Amino acid sequence: MLRIPCPHCGVRDEIEFRYRGDASVRRPAGEAGMEAFLAHVYERANPAGWHLEWWQHAAGCRQVLKVRRHTVTHEIGAVGLPGDDLPLPEASA
Ligand SMILES: [Zn+2]
Repeated sequence: MLRIPCPHCGVRDEIEFRYRGDASVRRPAGEAGMEAFLAHVYERANPAGWHLEWWQHAAGCRQVLKVRRHTVTHEIGAVGLPGDDLPLPEASA
């Protein structure tokens, strides 16, 4: 079970949170074309390593958080607000 440190509520169990998707995806510009939008909607990386994700503290403050999680060990590297910059470590293993 994940233990996610919400910046508003403190450390809470994963069951209070709802996964909201890949936080590294950026919407293409309006003139980018259909291929770019199809990739934006349907294509996701499946990294074995550090990854940025959106999690909503649904049973708590209801805020959406940006979480840096290791997809193999499930270690939570950092938690921030949506506008925060959470750089990924250089070696992603
Ligand atoms: Zn919270």
